[in-house]
Amino acid sequence: MHEMSIVESLLAMVQAEMDSRGCGRLESVHVVYGAMAGIVPESLQMCFEIMTKDTPNEGARLELTCLPVRLRCGGCGTVFGGEGREALWQPCPVCGETFGHAVEQGRELYLKRLEAWPA
Ligand SMILES: [Zn+2]
Repeated sequence: MHEMSIVESLLAMVQAEMDSRGCGRLESVHVVYGAMAGIVPESLQMCFEIMTKDTPNEGARLELTCLPVRLRCGGCGTVFGGEGREALWQPCPVCGETFGHAVEQGRELYLKRLEAWPA
């Protein structure tokens, strides 16, 4: 399950950040991901719960924000969007081009914010 390795590196990043600031217990983590990043939010939540269980960070919340897909038409340069991966196959609303759209947004995966308590 690749969510496991995502959560693993997320928690490593979080821990490094907390250590450098002298934080003790994690309150919440906010992660932003693109609709095309291949993230299944439910399994990310589940992995997060499993991997924080029996650690000082048990009970911390994982907040997820999904960024919709944004494409730039390869034909005329119009930027348009869609909810998920299937947006890739939709024709440009201006010129009708179906191929060669560049992905402007939708593949992101990053840690946006974390809240933690002082040690
Ligand atoms: Zn177009």
